[in-house]
Amino acid sequence: MKKTDISRLDTLPGKRIKPGETFKFQCHEKLSCYNLCCRNLNLFLYPYDILRLKKQLKISSDQFLDTYVDVVLRKDNYLPDVLLKMADNQEKTCPFLDADGCRVYPDRPDTCRTFPIEQGAFFDAAKNKTRLVHFFRPPDFCLGQHQKKTWTTNSWSMDQNAALYNQMTVRWAEVKRLFESDPWGKEGPYGSKGKMVFMAAYNIDGFREFVLHSTFLTRFKIKTALIKKIKTSDTELLKLGFEWIKLMIWGKQSRIIQFF
Ligand code: SF4
Ligand code: SF4
Repeated sequence: MKKTDISRLDTLPGKRIKPGETFKFQCHEKLSCYNLCCRNLNLFLYPYDILRLKKQLKISSDQFLDTYVDVVLRKDNYLPDVLLKMADNQEKTCPFLDADGCRVYPDRPDTCRTFPIEQGAFFDAAKNKTRLVHFFRPPDFCLGQHQKKTWTTNSWSMDQNAALYNQMTVRWAEVKRLFESDPWGKEGPYGSKGKMVFMAAYNIDGFREFVLHSTFLTRFKIKTALIKKIKTSDTELLKLGFEWIKLMIWGKQSRIIQFF
């Protein structure tokens, strides 16, 4: 997902695919490029990606973050991003690529799911809404773009079972957008508040421990039914985390969480 300015949409690389427009694509094992796209990537992981991957791998969020990611702070950004660390081999393959293909396929990240479409998020101030925009952007070596099967971005998303991923990406884009200005002051993004935000976004196990076993529930008002849900649902907990970040850092109240 890239941040895009609406006035520049038609100047960005790739072919913009508007709702209802189509593109041609099909990927299968018989193509000579099979799995070439799973190497040497700058693959950004979003919070929901991490939640799904650590579950698929049956490891904790801490173990996932320690083993599989690089954390980078990009220029003009006040919240660090998380990238999947490629394997330390000549081809810099994705750590989840093995002889049979992607070993995390049912829980592969949003970017892999949406490929060869790239998503951008733009905030429509008039409607107070964040929307995804789509660009068809396969690399030259990708032979799937010369196949005949036709898709809209909607039918492609359904085929790839990406609807929930896309929804969570929009929610995350709404949080990220706020960090275009500096909320940290002297302590910077790696100070105590920054660490809490990073935990709520990327370390779901740590955040659950914090919510359920600190003074959190005496300081923030959350409906009893939601407290019950977040004990077992990582997705509901992550949504709460996003709203908590907006409240704690930016003072934005929501129906989900308020100060007592
Ligand atoms: S390069 Fe394109 S066609 Fe080839 S495996 Fe990757 S997505 Fe499929
Ligand atoms: S997660 Fe799977 S689909 Fe994505 S780059 Fe790695 S091996 Fe390829």
